[in-house]
Amino acid sequence: MLRQYELVERVKAYDPDADEDLLNRAYVFSMKAHGSQLRASGDPYFSHPIEVAGILTDLKLDDETIATGILHDTIEDTVATQDEIDRLFGKSVGRLVDGVTKLSKIEAQTDSERQAENLRKFLLAMSNDIRVLLVKLADRLHNMRTLHFIKSEDKRRRIARETMDIYAPLAERIGMYGFMDELQELAFRELEPDGHATIAARLAKLREGGGDTVARIASGIKLVLAQKGIEAEVTGREKRPYSIWRKMQGRAMAFEALSDVMAFRILVDDEAECYRALGVVHGRWPMVPGRFKDFISTPKRNGYKSIHTTVLHNENARIEVQIRTRRMHEEAEFGLAAHWAYKQGGDGAMAREAYPWLEDLLEVLHDAATPEELLENARLAMFQDQVFVFTPKGALHQLPRESTPVDFAYAVHSDLGDSCVGAKVNGRVVPLRTRLVNGDQVEILRSKVKAPDPAWEGFVASAKARAAVRRHVRHKNLQESQAMGGKLLDSLALRLKISLGDETLGPALSRLKLGDRQALELAMARNQLTDAQVSEALVPGSTAGQKPRRKRGKPGPAAVSIHGLTAGVAFELGTCHPIPGDRIVGIRRPGEPIVVHTIDCASLADETGEWLEVSWGAETDGAIARLAVVVHNQPGSLASLTAALAAHNANIVNLALKHRDREFHTDVIDIEVEDLKHLTTIIAALRQVKAVVSVERMRG
Ligand code: MN
Repeated sequence: MLRQYELVERVKAYDPDADEDLLNRAYVFSMKAHGSQLRASGDPYFSHPIEVAGILTDLKLDDETIATGILHDTIEDTVATQDEIDRLFGKSVGRLVDGVTKLSKIEAQTDSERQAENLRKFLLAMSNDIRVLLVKLADRLHNMRTLHFIKSEDKRRRIARETMDIYAPLAERIGMYGFMDELQELAFRELEPDGHATIAARLAKLREGGGDTVARIASGIKLVLAQKGIEAEVTGREKRPYSIWRKMQGRAMAFEALSDVMAFRILVDDEAECYRALGVVHGRWPMVPGRFKDFISTPKRNGYKSIHTTVLHNENARIEVQIRTRRMHEEAEFGLAAHWAYKQGGDGAMAREAYPWLEDLLEVLHDAATPEELLENARLAMFQDQVFVFTPKGALHQLPRESTPVDFAYAVHSDLGDSCVGAKVNGRVVPLRTRLVNGDQVEILRSKVKAPDPAWEGFVASAKARAAVRRHVRHKNLQESQAMGGKLLDSLALRLKISLGDETLGPALSRLKLGDRQALELAMARNQLTDAQVSEALVPGSTAGQKPRRKRGKPGPAAVSIHGLTAGVAFELGTCHPIPGDRIVGIRRPGEPIVVHTIDCASLADETGEWLEVSWGAETDGAIARLAVVVHNQPGSLASLTAALAAHNANIVNLALKHRDREFHTDVIDIEVEDLKHLTTIIAALRQVKAVVSVERMRG
């Protein structure tokens, strides 16, 4: 713990005019007030505010801020009162301590009205004087550094979560990347201990192999720059486990694929030198496209300036390089606090100019109608790469930016995601690929069947949704193939007039080098084995002298037959729902059943498989057409619809309500039809139904 004179000396070192007496009185007051209280670490409680003040001296902050650091927990945790603080240390320090205390209260509260009220006060205090936030962040940093002393895992996790969700983004917002990194790293270790341990172990292993790679590369860069007459300070480091973790999450990437685990920083004297250094680096090592960012010509909203690039260094390792001036560097580490140090005596007005997002927060204060709204709005304004949306009941969900209703559904519950068929945003039906924005209220329309659409994978933004869709599609494909293969095998056995017992299957499986019956069925369904090969394996000699048969009954999922395919080849009908009479084409991809599409199917545009000329065979049972029917939203409308379908022998296989508003609803109906002519008759009949507004055939 810093002793009284040490602390004062530290402040004096960067600010000779600092009010020594103020600091001394604060030190003594806080020590007496906290008395014999102890921290979880067993240290006297008093060590905490002093360490916080110490962190603030690293930021070279003024005497009032340091005093606030020393006093920040006295009102909350001791018998000291606001009046006392005001009287003994002046209005300015009093206000700062009050502001920090307000935020501590928010943390402890669950009641949203009081929480909102305290947040309002905190935001006001902060916008009047941003030093409140600096003290609060230093407070949180010290608490995170000593988090491991807390025995209750629940409590540790709660604090870590809050740090990750609120304080790290706030640090980022005011450009204090040094704080942000450390806060995130400490919180990550607590929240994802396994992830942290895995990455740390992996980094250690990489280090083992290459000796001191980081130092070697850094001095290499320095040398290359020096040869071109640029005097630069070059430092390198491994990226922190948390930033590696985030990259892996964001790009769904394996650690092995992440080659850029090292980052280097080049510090030079002035801006022009930054660009010269950039030229030298790009001239020496090839740049990785898409990774170059110039925050000097276009600074971030929080004021951050630097050039970022990634180059392909020797041994094919990607390295990230940041180039900036020393002044920019100091500002990047200390953010707003750096401005403070340079402009001693500045006030809130200065901060507001430098940090336009503070204006956003202030507007939030004025715009919010209710405490809840204030709370939510303030949170919204603090996070930029997230969207916050609500359930119809008003529960808040935090999603990655670019999220869609599907991401929302999966965030609420995986069941909801799996059964999602449509969505309303702010009361209006929207396409599922709609990007959500802050404040949207999202309602998911669900069906009874759990059938995530494979196409979702193309637009979902969250890792959770993507993983769920993939899993489902894989599972479904497997199930379908298995079922189809089972039928193929059974019908083959029927033709060969054998039963599929161990005595026939066992030797056949070993001839085909397959493990079990399931593997055989899958191989047949996936077109990896022909009927002839399987026949031969089941009954050796059975195919001798035989010509391949043209056609076999009921091979596909629907009992339609297709001409132009070799006997026994597995096929399925595409999602464009071709029916006999449509012009069709077969698409063959290695290892998959042939898929039959209508010739005008949109998915054919970027089809890479082999195109086969096919036509409809004699058997047409079970071809399924899909209709979109818009119906007046009135009692009995659905009944008149189904009656018309029944009158025309159209068997309804599936019916899903897609969109519904006050006047209309859209139903998606799958019906079994004989052929195109049959379908045309049905559509004409449906259009005669009074409740029906429109009928269209759906493709894909
Ligand atoms: Mn504290």
